Amino acid sequence: MSESISTVCVQGGYTPGNGEPRQIPIIQSTTFKYDTSEHMGKLFDLEESGYFYTRLQNPTNDHVAAKICELEGGTAAMLTSSGQAANFFAVFNIASAGDHVVSSSSIYGGTYNLFAVTMKRMGIEFTFVSPDCTDDELAAAFQPNTKAVFGETIANPALSVLDIERFASAAHEHGVPLIVDNTFPTPINCRPFEWGADIVTHSTTKYMDGHGVGVGGCIVDSGTFDWCAHADKFPGLTTPDDSYHGVTYTERFGLEGAFITKATAQLMRDFGAIQAPQNAFYLNLGLESLHLRMAQHCKNGLAMAEYLKAHPKIAWVRYPSLEGDEYSEQAKKYLPNGSCGVVSFGVVGGRAAAETFMKNLKLAQIATHVADARTCVLHPANATHRQMNDAELAAAGISPDLIRLSCGIEGTEDLIADVEQALACV
Ligand SMILES: *Cc1c(COP(=O)(O)O)cnc(C)c1O
Repeated sequence: MSESISTVCVQGGYTPGNGEPRQIPIIQSTTFKYDTSEHMGKLFDLEESGYFYTRLQNPTNDHVAAKICELEGGTAAMLTSSGQAANFFAVFNIASAGDHVVSSSSIYGGTYNLFAVTMKRMGIEFTFVSPDCTDDELAAAFQPNTKAVFGETIANPALSVLDIERFASAAHEHGVPLIVDNTFPTPINCRPFEWGADIVTHSTTKYMDGHGVGVGGCIVDSGTFDWCAHADKFPGLTTPDDSYHGVTYTERFGLEGAFITKATAQLMRDFGAIQAPQNAFYLNLGLESLHLRMAQHCKNGLAMAEYLKAHPKIAWVRYPSLEGDEYSEQAKKYLPNGSCGVVSFGVVGGRAAAETFMKNLKLAQIATHVADARTCVLHPANATHRQMNDAELAAAGISPDLIRLSCGIEGTEDLIADVEQALACV
């Protein structure tokens, strides 16, 4: 039975049996007991599925991953301890030293650092392309050793919208999958698999949790990328894994299960970036209202963007769903029901005016966070990027006056009134 996305938010991933708990149980246990060592051996050899140690898998996490999998329309999913871990695992599962990845340049700063600095130290090279590059520029970024293409549906904080179809077809022409970080729209507003993406990642820390409670991440596989058709590029999936008694992931688990099983069996085993079952439980509470919250985030984001656009003290506004925005056409295609609650803008008067504005906000609170039920605001030039001078900020695509406002789910009128009184102080 195919259910609406609202029903999946509320009930997906877990169906209790007779007399079992209605809410997902928190299995707060590191280990699981077996009657015979033969049985446990079969689990270790991946011959049977079952739990043995929470560093690899835990039932609470698996229920929540199954819900996100269903929301995205995938075939397999896993939770990770953070969005950073999700993006690292998604790429490292198919790229190793000597390999190359094409990435949109318009991505989260933490992901950029992971790729350009830390994974580079591991021997993986990245070529960054503008999300607005031409088809020729995109094609020119590929190398014989390219293993994946990466981008964000809505980039944090640039708010550019990825042309998923175009990036997916370029990836597929070169025999590699497209990995899309779908954190900002969530599957409520965009399901990248429907546009050709192969792997989806999330920082569940943002809208999915939605209440600023737990850092977490998730990886979902569409099950549609044919690793075997490009077996020479992906030997880790298509040839025996010596560290797992010679199992070949595509053979044993099929295209629908190979990617996530390998990431669990190898990367979770070796790096241990598991989400705590308690946090998975909180994440599930967030997911139960995701469809309701996203609608209000989008309503507030759009109303705020329209209000700011008409205000004489506002120099510029960026919001993908705002009529006339440079990404509004792409947003209409990929995000017809709304984009997210994050709006960026500049106050006339630059850095000093931005500081005065921020100081006078009352409801919107200054925090290094986005996508929370409570409205939060950040002035990067004065916070996350304060060590940079104006020239360095410009090179990073951040103007000194840029304010990132993450509209929460409070009353629209109250948020606008707060911004109005703070602007009056400028
Ligand atoms: C926050 C964020 C991340 C990193 O996630 P953490 O949960 O903070 O590790 C990755 N991608 C995007 C788009 C983000 O907004």
